[in-house]
Amino acid sequence: MEKRQLLYEGKAKQMFATDDPDLVIQYFKDDATAFDGTKKSTIASKGVVNNACTEIFFRLLEQDGVETHFVERLSDREMLVKRLDIVPVEMIVRNVMAGSLARRLGLDEGAPLSAPIVEYCYKSDALHDPLINRWHVTVLGFAKPEEIDAMTALTLRVNEILRPFLAARKLLLVDMKLEFGRHHGRILLGDEICPDTCRFWDVDTGRKLDKDRFRHDLGDVAEAYHEVHRRLSSPA
Ligand code: ADP
Ligand code: UDP
Repeated sequence: MEKRQLLYEGKAKQMFATDDPDLVIQYFKDDATAFDGTKKSTIASKGVVNNACTEIFFRLLEQDGVETHFVERLSDREMLVKRLDIVPVEMIVRNVMAGSLARRLGLDEGAPLSAPIVEYCYKSDALHDPLINRWHVTVLGFAKPEEIDAMTALTLRVNEILRPFLAARKLLLVDMKLEFGRHHGRILLGDEICPDTCRFWDVDTGRKLDKDRFRHDLGDVAEAYHEVHRRLSSPA
């Protein structure tokens, strides 16, 4: 397998072609952005930690029967994945009130939700990833009804698999963002699962161990990312 040209440079990752048209390489950068790219910096070794965390989560999900784009981790910062036609819908699942939901509804962060809430956002930096609903997704052609049904069921399943795995490592999964795509007609989980795309709170202290430390200048950002990786790598 040979690494070829840069296909796309995003805020946190680069995607490279390979000599196999079905496979691409995700390269995880240390670049961090927040608030629609208005806040920019780097977090030391973030790319290495996010690559390693994504590998742990995707292997766990594959073991539990969730199909992902993961093929293998190639190096500290590179992951070989199946090439997807990404559905432009960010799937958000929440277990605890936080972030944009708390702001939108004028509620305090921190209350556990009686059941998970799934939200859909249109993946568009220019429009600030607006909240949409199932009708927008299907009527505007972002995904077919059976695809959004499958993505919704998979999002809830991923949440149910990750929650106990994280709880056993003293991490509360507050919320997370997932992306899916089509690979030869099948819907696979793509992108990454890491402290950039999830909220993790320490079960005992409530300490935030995720990108909120960067968003809100809470300090010790890189240390928090390493702590998540350390816990994920340890047996329960
Ligand atoms: P952004 O585009 O939001 O700045 P990233 O920096 O993480 O995000 O860039 C990675 C891009 O690659 C994202 O747009 C994501 O949707 C896309 N992507 C993730 N997995 C795959 C895949 N397997 N095949 C093709 N594109 C993918
Ligand atoms: N999230 C993400 N990318 C986005 C938007 C959200 O990874 O473009 C993640 C975010 O880290 C959190 C969850 O999705 O774990 C819910 O985010 P929220 O809607 O609360 O938005 P935020 O307040 O973080 O911008």
